[in-house]
Amino acid sequence: MQQIIDEHLWQKIISPDSFSGEVRFREDMKKHTSLKIGGPAEVLAFPQDVVSLKNMLTALKRKDIPFMTIGGGTNLLVRDGGIDGVVISLRDFRRIEPLREEDDLIPFFVETGVPLQKFVGFAKENGYSGIEGLVGIPGSVGGAIAGNAGSFGYEIKNVLVSVTAIYADGRLDKLNAGELGLEYRAAKIPAGSIILSANIRLRRDMKEDIAKRIDGFLREKRERQPLAEQSAGCVFKNPGVTYAGKLIDEAGCKGMRIGDVEVSTVHANFLINKGNASASDFIRLMDAVRARVMEVFGIELEPEIRIVGRDE
Ligand SMILES: Cc1cc2nc3c(=O)[nH]c(=O)nc-3n(C[C@H](O)[C@H](O)[C@H](O)COP(=O)(O)OP(=O)(O)OC[C@H]3O[C@@H](n4cnc5c(N)ncnc54)[C@H](O)[C@@H]3O)c2cc1C
Repeated sequence: MQQIIDEHLWQKIISPDSFSGEVRFREDMKKHTSLKIGGPAEVLAFPQDVVSLKNMLTALKRKDIPFMTIGGGTNLLVRDGGIDGVVISLRDFRRIEPLREEDDLIPFFVETGVPLQKFVGFAKENGYSGIEGLVGIPGSVGGAIAGNAGSFGYEIKNVLVSVTAIYADGRLDKLNAGELGLEYRAAKIPAGSIILSANIRLRRDMKEDIAKRIDGFLREKRERQPLAEQSAGCVFKNPGVTYAGKLIDEAGCKGMRIGDVEVSTVHANFLINKGNASASDFIRLMDAVRARVMEVFGIELEPEIRIVGRDE
């Protein structure tokens, strides 16, 4: 029988002196995803440092307790039954440090809990180029690596040199970007690992030029996307030949609604939580949109968002 991880079991397996950080039990994942959808995680843990993370992972492994990582929760649909095991957030891993400064190409040590927009803002303020097109993409640097986030022809892949990963047994490993299989909205993060930090290489450039590019991209993004609504960004990947949003629009899906989930009338590849949506309604609307696009164009759409957890 599956063991229930409550405060009592937690205290038994993880001694207070081996772990610093906040721990919440039966935490509603609604509060931690941009869609504001999702049942509770048995445990949501925010380790404060690598030693605490390592101690926690090895304790979980000993007890065979599953875990998953969450960044900003902006590419995630958590099912209504919630998540068994432990959800780990690296929100307290927030260092950005230049490793060398002597060249035009500057490598940065970036912890993966850094919000991506904090890093874009840092690059803008200090005159480092390479991630301008990532402006306006919410979430963390970790999530951006795990999904090779990108926009306007920019991708995290283009500036990523290497990452440091931690495994369930507490082992640390350095992986070169080439080993991560980064491609359009996908990466092959080794199973059971968490990316702790990245080496990201940016190029020195004129601050005004960088600011001009960033401001232009942001303006375009604001015009094209319903940024103020509760969404997870684009739900489907572009199928190569054209944009998924264009196919969904031309298949007549804009405004389609199931429960409180609606196909955005601004950008058809965004499915919006209009109020109190459930994950099951979200998935039903995804299926309906896919079926319509298949019927009209004969093209299979593949999800870009990650669906996790279990049904109620
Ligand atoms: C309004 C809006 C606009 C968006 N625009 C874009 C866009 O233009 N381009 C784009 O690419 N995306 C876009 N997105 C989607 C989303 O913001 C990106 O995919 C983002 O990079 C996800 O980061 P996150 O930290 O929120 O990841 P999460 O949603 O928290 O997690 C996503 C996946 O990454 C894994 N993960 C997270 N951190 C780690 C880690 N440290 N180690 C290992 N695995 C990890 C998680 O387990 C999960 O599988 C948009 C989303 C919204 C809401």
